[in-house]
Amino acid sequence: MFSGVKSRSPETHDPVCGMQLDEKKTTAKSEYNGTIYYFCSPSCKAAFDKEPSKYAQRSGPSDKPKEGSGHEHHH
Ligand SMILES: [Zn+2]
Repeated sequence: MFSGVKSRSPETHDPVCGMQLDEKKTTAKSEYNGTIYYFCSPSCKAAFDKEPSKYAQRSGPSDKPKEGSGHEHHH
């Protein structure tokens, strides 16, 4: 019996396609801004790596105020 043991694994989902994932089973992952994101497939990871800021969810206070229009630093 698994009494007292609840599945407290954090909700992980693919930020690209939105698929729910098990971080213990998925191998495609990428780190961005200190957060590790998991993906259902290498192709989703590639899409994320291409434009991480597009897919990364910003929850909580934004670290940097977004002022001005269309003036982001270019890597
Ligand atoms: Zn995916």
